[in-house]
Amino acid sequence: SSQSALNFGAGPAKLPREVLNDVQYEFISYQNAGMSIIEMSHRSKEYITINKNAQDAIRKLLNVPSNYEVLFMQGGGCGAFAAVALNLINRTGTADYAVTGTWSGKAAKEATKYGKVNLLFPKADKPGSIPDQKTWNFDPNASYVYYCDNETVDGVEFPYVPNTNGVPIVCDMSSSIMTKTLDISKFGVIFGGAQKNIGPAGVVVVIIRKDLFGASHDCVVYVMEKVLQWIIKQGGVKAMQKQAEEKSGLLYKTISNSNSYYSCPIDENVRSRINIPFRVGGKSGNEKLEEKFLEEAEKLSMFQLKGHRSVGGIRASLYNAVSLDDVKSLVKFMEEFQKEHP
Ligand code: PMP
Repeated sequence: SSQSALNFGAGPAKLPREVLNDVQYEFISYQNAGMSIIEMSHRSKEYITINKNAQDAIRKLLNVPSNYEVLFMQGGGCGAFAAVALNLINRTGTADYAVTGTWSGKAAKEATKYGKVNLLFPKADKPGSIPDQKTWNFDPNASYVYYCDNETVDGVEFPYVPNTNGVPIVCDMSSSIMTKTLDISKFGVIFGGAQKNIGPAGVVVVIIRKDLFGASHDCVVYVMEKVLQWIIKQGGVKAMQKQAEEKSGLLYKTISNSNSYYSCPIDENVRSRINIPFRVGGKSGNEKLEEKFLEEAEKLSMFQLKGHRSVGGIRASLYNAVSLDDVKSLVKFMEEFQKEHP
């Protein structure tokens, strides 16, 4: 059947239609090879070319300098933040963590298994703010400073890259990689699970400064390579960034024009452009109304809008493949829902 659902899921998430068509077209016989790519050796020239093209596309899209390695790893985002601690914390035995939400919280907890974790600021009861950098309690002896650029569950996004006075920065970009331009030279390690903005689940991109470490693993990156080429065709990361601002701007505007019918608990300066949590029916939300909201959205083919179970409410994830038109459909629905369920 055709793809008619508007998918606002947090990951695994929507992929570009063009990529799916392409994959479908060549799936049975990859480029006239007479067999599919997933039946071929990972040492075949076809697979090696896909791997290299994916690495080259990442280098091109993010201007990755030559003293950085691009690795494809397994184990998801959680595997990556564990690997970071496991491989890096021993340099001095301690690391700084900025906990701004669910995933940085889990990463900090994981790191305590391998060394001393210094929290840069006290953990808030409820995410929604990032304290001013001037107040952060940096440990000059830290092996690295860790933060999560965009908290997928909570909708908190860093509007800047922290200044760490030369201590390597490790950044979880699982839900924001390829949605903004970056100065890679500011980072020691960037990692991101592919299952949001760059491909299907099962591969994590790691961009790492070569002096930090460099052991790579094999894995399948076929669809990711296609998504990266699709991003290049759309105008690169700059175009994705512009689109992310337009889409999220439209949604936040709808929320703020709703007379508190819809509300977002996140401070305006750190609101995520990618994952947008909101409540329906007043500031603390009306669960019955939210259930109704999800039900009616599904009738209009809008799926995966339920907030993370730890947060409740609604969450719209606007990854790169989610179009401005998709978001227009969502806000139209929101405005109508408000009228019909005052
Ligand atoms: N970090 C962030 C920012 C995430 O959004 C997620 C997944 N939602 C993870 C880490 C964990 O990734 P995985 O489920 O692949 O382990």
